[in-house]
Amino acid sequence: MSKFIIITGGVVSSLGKGISGASIGKLLQLHGLKVNMIKCDPYINVDPGTMSPYQHGEVFVTTDGAEADLDLGHYERFLDVEMTKANTNTAGSIYQTVIDKERRGEYLGATVQVIPHITNEIKKRFCAFEKDFDVSIIEIGGTVGDIESLPFLEAARQLIQEKGPENVINIHVTLIPYIAVAQELKTKPSQHSVNKLRELGIQPSMLICRTEKPLSVGLRNKLSLFCSVPTTHVIECADAKSIYEVPRNFYKQQLDKRVLELLHLKPKHKVDEKWFKFFDKALHPTKMVKIAIAGKYSELQDAYKSVNEALRHAGMNNNAKVQITYINTEKDDVVAKLKEVDGVLIPGGFGTRGIEGKIETVRYAREHKLPFLGICVGMQCAVIEAARNLCGLKKANSTEFDPKTKYPVVDLTPQQKNVVYKGGTMRLGNYTADLKKGSLAHKLYGKTHIVERHRHRYELNPDYVKQLEKVGLLVTGWHEGVLPEIVERKDHPYFIAGQFHPEFGSRPQRPHPLFDGLVKASLKHQKK
Ligand code: GLN
Repeated sequence: MSKFIIITGGVVSSLGKGISGASIGKLLQLHGLKVNMIKCDPYINVDPGTMSPYQHGEVFVTTDGAEADLDLGHYERFLDVEMTKANTNTAGSIYQTVIDKERRGEYLGATVQVIPHITNEIKKRFCAFEKDFDVSIIEIGGTVGDIESLPFLEAARQLIQEKGPENVINIHVTLIPYIAVAQELKTKPSQHSVNKLRELGIQPSMLICRTEKPLSVGLRNKLSLFCSVPTTHVIECADAKSIYEVPRNFYKQQLDKRVLELLHLKPKHKVDEKWFKFFDKALHPTKMVKIAIAGKYSELQDAYKSVNEALRHAGMNNNAKVQITYINTEKDDVVAKLKEVDGVLIPGGFGTRGIEGKIETVRYAREHKLPFLGICVGMQCAVIEAARNLCGLKKANSTEFDPKTKYPVVDLTPQQKNVVYKGGTMRLGNYTADLKKGSLAHKLYGKTHIVERHRHRYELNPDYVKQLEKVGLLVTGWHEGVLPEIVERKDHPYFIAGQFHPEFGSRPQRPHPLFDGLVKASLKHQKK
């Protein structure tokens, strides 16, 4: 039977509950336990796939095609466990399941209510990994006190009652704000949020305190007294230079030991500290490389979370700090900004805004032999650029940006043309691709058959492949021989783009080959 850790958040959002949860999971994993993680988001959207990055940041895609919260990315990168649809739940998806069941008449005449029907469905989802994992860590999004999260917290309360406090615990992540004028850290907001939890019938077993300044013994005692948590279970979580330092910070405070005690769990073996040491190297890089991300959300780093991480992983692998510059392709002078960098990446994107700047980015990278990696819309822009500037197909475009274009070099498949519902209907999740022998793609991956995650509606129009190849834009990856997956140029040190999202598969210790290739090529470009 699995043990459960329910992670809640207090005072404000954006406290890094995801990273705290993933760090706890990592520590338990280092003790040899099998750990999985579940995210619960209290909003009504069935999934975040229809939300703007301004609302939600990046949409993370699982191998089985769920569009999910970006915390699932942290979970994958920390635990190296592949997330699935069962790892992500929203209030919308839970209500949808319950309402569908009601329409099928499965409640046999009952009045369908939040308690027990919604809470039962939530508990069922909390227990999705009960059989196969030693510990399930469940993160409840939002802040305690929000109306939306109440059913999730009620389900957590019930789970604690049903399975017992030795099997289910709550860890509350909270903020200890620093008041500069008074030069004091304040515990009151945390006291209030713990009181709120208690009103709902949940007593946290541990507090993780986000703070800018170290917590004094006095402060720990105060939190302990007011929140009914032993001082040893008041954990400081200071801002770290790298998110991968958080597990070690917790380890130093014996968080893992306390959690094992609380849950009556025995470690399978001694903690293997190699994992911590791996990241020390990352703190002292010997090289620096500047890479631009050319997209629409330059001011919103969360929009490109996995891309940033993938660049960092590739940097670590090459002993280099990757300095990321954001280019806003709608507003910035693209060429001026590109002159300052050693390589450029165009991440995924939707809609017309900023597209012309991305096409200009491709042209510059191609002409100036600047290392270039295109992701999804980045590949589509590479195709449009070649069609317009090399094939002479004036105003060639994707039908996403110009539905009436004379040269639809990127277009919807007939299947996508019939789509009415926008949610969950893109080409999502894992698809295979076969790579051409001897291509750059083949060299980078070291194999000819790959599987990558997708999230898009439009495709390179196969009718134009011949023309594109004639001008040097080679299609070197195909899905089942019908859908182009990778394009690259031979006359360029590093010009490659994929219809998929390689960033989701990158791991700290296993950087994705396309990102690794970009960093290596950018370091070489710098030397010139
Ligand atoms: N907007 C493009 C499409 O739907 C690309 C999507 C993406 O970059 N993820 O095909």
